[in-house]
Amino acid sequence: MLKPIVSPAETAQLKKMFSEARQVVLTCHTSPDGDAIGSCLALQEYLVRRGKQATVIVPNYFPDFLRWMNGADRIIQYNRNYTRSKTLIAQADLVVCLDYNEPARIDDMQTPFRFIKGRKLMIDHHENPAAGFCDLTLSRPEMSSTCELLFRLFVALDDLQNVNRHAAEDLYAGMCTDTGRFTYNSNNPEIFIIIAELMKKGIDKDRIIRNIYNQNTEGRYRLMGYILYEKLIVMHDLHASISSVTKDELQRFHYLKGDAEGIVNMPLEIRGQKLSIMLREDTEKPQICVSIRSYDDFPANEMATRFFNGGGHFNAAGGRLFCTMDEALEIAKQAVEAYRPLLCKDDPTPAE
Ligand code: 5GP
Ligand code: MN
Repeated sequence: MLKPIVSPAETAQLKKMFSEARQVVLTCHTSPDGDAIGSCLALQEYLVRRGKQATVIVPNYFPDFLRWMNGADRIIQYNRNYTRSKTLIAQADLVVCLDYNEPARIDDMQTPFRFIKGRKLMIDHHENPAAGFCDLTLSRPEMSSTCELLFRLFVALDDLQNVNRHAAEDLYAGMCTDTGRFTYNSNNPEIFIIIAELMKKGIDKDRIIRNIYNQNTEGRYRLMGYILYEKLIVMHDLHASISSVTKDELQRFHYLKGDAEGIVNMPLEIRGQKLSIMLREDTEKPQICVSIRSYDDFPANEMATRFFNGGGHFNAAGGRLFCTMDEALEIAKQAVEAYRPLLCKDDPTPAE
């Protein structure tokens, strides 16, 4: 049905890990998104169905628009339950790292990771998985999402029968959010075969989309309007835009974590745009969070590494700056300027 993406040796190792595990902890990156939460909950559903004890522990708060998922109310937030998390992580015979590629992505949760006695398994789709971090690393950057990869692992294990409707909903949610409702990173036709399989499990994909996307608070909706109207700098000649928002501005709109998510994608809807950079002052730490989105051959991850202390995917990346917003805007403008040849390569040359 699908082209295999894991070797027989990897499949055998994975099979053994799952069979031998009894107490499993599932983890994802800081500020979990739909793919992170979706992959954790889907694997939890699967393992519980196989008679395992499985607990999801996430580093910190995850957005309200993911709370409809079955089991979301049982997710443990590490920053609110240090002791319980530490005990569970230390007792687990298997810890799974979903949707992240290196310890730095779980911030403070690295501390309890020092007490892991069990095995570690990485299932992820970010570039450059940290060597030596996990006992088995299943990293496939060519996948749209960790959820897509996870579905394919269930296929490799020949165990779709243990994927129930709830798990199918979680997988669909993760694939959907990591591809902007299948508008980017989703040209592999097999993605739609997977969706068809998930639908056979009885998911209502239209309702899932409404559950995820039609959940704006009034504050977030107005914040979007404010940023687009007041704070967006469009550089038409460079096919790029920079938007920014300070902590004070966020507070004016009763900002909740996650409220600014996705706003960085919107300027790419302007005709001719190839690159969108958004600078957001963090409400918790003294830093400016940078989000980068691009189209086609523009390497957002390379820009994130070169200018913003970050990384990520080719067309969606992020990073952080430790300076004032004015300085950050300067850096962003320099970064765009540095890519002028690439951004303008398709422009018609002016007539002599
Ligand atoms: P966002 O703009 O949504 O915060 O991040 C976009 C993408 O870039 C996400 O897939 C995220 O995992 C990745 N990303 C953000 N910051 C970093 C970073 O510092 N390093 C790496 N490797 N990836 C990052
Ligand atoms: Mn992901």
